[in-house]
Amino acid sequence: MRGQHASVSYKDTNWRIINRLWPYLKTHCHRIGLALMCLIGAKIASVGLPFILKHIIDALDQHSNTHSSITLPLGLLLAYGVTRFSSVLFGELRDTLFGRVTERAMHHIGLHVFEHLHRLDLAFHLDRQTGGLSRDIERGTNGISFLLRFMVFNIVPTLLEIGLVVALLWWQYHFIFAGIVLSAVTLYIGFSVFTTEWRTRFLREVNQAESQSSTRAVDSLLNHETVKLFTNEHFECQRYDAELTRWEHARRQNRLSLFALNGGQALIIAAALTTALIIAGKHVAAGTMSLGDFVLINSFMIQIFMPLNFLGFVYREVKGSLASIEKMLELLAITPRISDAPHAPDLHVTHGDIQFDHVSFQYTADRDILRQVSFRVPAKQKVAIVGASGAGKSTLFKLLFRFYDVTQGEIRIDDQPIHRVNLHSLRRAIGVIPQDTVLFNTSIWENIRYGRVDATDSAVQEAIRLAHLDQFIEQLPNGRNTLVGERGLKLSGGEKQRVAIARALLKKPPSLIFDEATSSLDSHSEQVILQALQEMAHEQTTLVIAHRLSTVIDADHIIVLAKGQIVEQGTHRSLLQQHGQYHKLWTLQQHTRHDSKPALP
Ligand code: ATP
Repeated sequence: MRGQHASVSYKDTNWRIINRLWPYLKTHCHRIGLALMCLIGAKIASVGLPFILKHIIDALDQHSNTHSSITLPLGLLLAYGVTRFSSVLFGELRDTLFGRVTERAMHHIGLHVFEHLHRLDLAFHLDRQTGGLSRDIERGTNGISFLLRFMVFNIVPTLLEIGLVVALLWWQYHFIFAGIVLSAVTLYIGFSVFTTEWRTRFLREVNQAESQSSTRAVDSLLNHETVKLFTNEHFECQRYDAELTRWEHARRQNRLSLFALNGGQALIIAAALTTALIIAGKHVAAGTMSLGDFVLINSFMIQIFMPLNFLGFVYREVKGSLASIEKMLELLAITPRISDAPHAPDLHVTHGDIQFDHVSFQYTADRDILRQVSFRVPAKQKVAIVGASGAGKSTLFKLLFRFYDVTQGEIRIDDQPIHRVNLHSLRRAIGVIPQDTVLFNTSIWENIRYGRVDATDSAVQEAIRLAHLDQFIEQLPNGRNTLVGERGLKLSGGEKQRVAIARALLKKPPSLIFDEATSSLDSHSEQVILQALQEMAHEQTTLVIAHRLSTVIDADHIIVLAKGQIVEQGTHRSLLQQHGQYHKLWTLQQHTRHDSKPALP
């Protein structure tokens, strides 16, 4: 039974998201510990500052009241300078120490997601939208950086600082000041949390609109050739414009809601500060408080509210980061449909005998693609599959390569069911020359070497020669270092196909599959390459999927597929004698080619 991709309802609470990040952090416990010590140092220094300032002012004020000559409280002033410097220094040290932890975590989680994406099956990759996906990953990793930096080093320490200041105010002065700070902080946090929750949906909409417009742009640019072929530039711009308009609207709503949040926060702070200063001012006027006390209360209030103002921003951003990380973790939660059975052994290819045993397959439950297909490709023999377009020929290779699992039946290689062995060993044992070759945007040489990344230069050169690419490469101004362009678009169809052949030859697998591998070549090149492949094929089990029957007349066995079922099979000669579908196809193709007569080998 094929599974479904785990539905993306990832209802992890925020704490569970943070919990999932913990494994990426815990290897750096010592660094985190040191950073926390610096943080405590910075906080103690910053809480001490207003006290020193108070004593400086009182010292200066006393002298002015008594009209005696003013002696500078030099010690206090120096202490003020040193404390201020330490608070900044500790803060910088903390950031430097923790920066490495954050970057490491981003590195590892980014790699983990990348690995996971490569583990996901073909069906996922056919459904995905590259632009949006890369944006989600980028936002997710940036979100981690933000979350770690601000959650650990802003929210928690700010709350600590507030506690410390409230205790000091209560202990040193009237409880009213502590009361004002506490109620303002509570109101501020309550208001921020409530408003931020309300705003989250606008933020999500912005993220979504951003991903969609980016998906649209990437998709359109990747298909730029098709756009030009149909002169649809205007249409593409219109569609992109619609996405951007959505994005703009989402951003506007987001900004307006931000205005409401910032405005409300500023109002709470201003009201609390004013009330506290009025009360302190009264006390100074009544002589129950010194000028230094007034300044101290003002400094404490500002010192608390400044990070609190920041706290609002941080809470907001942390919520946003959590939403981005959640989106990235959703990717990690998708389970691949195709995966190894637990402790699956390696495939051991002794002869290279391939067997399809009553294989049925559906891509979607409502449509049969293959029905009860059984055939064997005996070791080191060449079997060809022919049939009309859409008959299910390429699907056979996708099943053998385990891009998909069969719905019914079994495929075996040397009597080992392919779903029982591990995927890596299975795929290593099969070389595929696909119908459409997509190349990496690097040099021809690198693209060929991709077939076996540790191949020696002479092995790559040999593969180039066998695929008849040597002459072509020699005539290029940059030779083997010529860049092939995005997806290999700077090469012709036939050249790309020869690169694919060279790659597969370099891989040297025990079994080879040609999926219409020479369809883009001219007749002459095709013959030359087929000749070379024939020589090599003696060593390998070969499955050839072909439209042009002339390319498979030498096959040991030919299977005719129609609507997902085998309708005829035999050698070229016996099939022609049957006067069935194969004969019909052959005659049709011979007529179309004009130049060649039906040939019996
Ligand atoms: P051609 O000669 O044109 O390459 P084929 O015989 O190789 O055709 P397949 O590529 O095997 O045909 O496709 C068989 C059928 O399966 C087609 O009708 C195709 O539309 C359908 N199909 C292929 N891939 C998918 C997919 N990923 N999801 C759903 N249907 C698919």
